[in-house]
Amino acid sequence: MSGVLRPQHNRDTAYFWEGTAAGELRLQTCNACGALRHPPGPACPDCGALDRGHVVASGDGEIFSWVVHRHPQVPGRQTPFVIALVTLAEGPRVLGELLGVDPDTTDDLIGAAVRIDFQHVDDELTLPVWRLA
Ligand SMILES: [Zn+2]
Repeated sequence: MSGVLRPQHNRDTAYFWEGTAAGELRLQTCNACGALRHPPGPACPDCGALDRGHVVASGDGEIFSWVVHRHPQVPGRQTPFVIALVTLAEGPRVLGELLGVDPDTTDDLIGAAVRIDFQHVDDELTLPVWRLA
């Protein structure tokens, strides 16, 4: 995966990627109203406050939706692969690759319990991935 596409890494997302490197799934919090959010952003969508922090999520969730990516080819990746949108126990939804599932499966995966795992790409990138719980 050395040629893999790199996610955006800036002051709004640094806590998230530092978290995956440490084996933590971090969710952004609003320090004004307490709302959790993902993906990261500069302002709270609920109250507009800029004061933000983060918490460590449990890593448990269930599949809200999923798709098999077959085309187009993705740099550094072999197709097909499965992508899942997971509703975390804490509420926000997080996208990630779903490992350990045959892309040709006919199983209905919606609602399936999953747990976070981390895929070390290199010293600068660790991706969050999902596995069936
Ligand atoms: Zn807020």
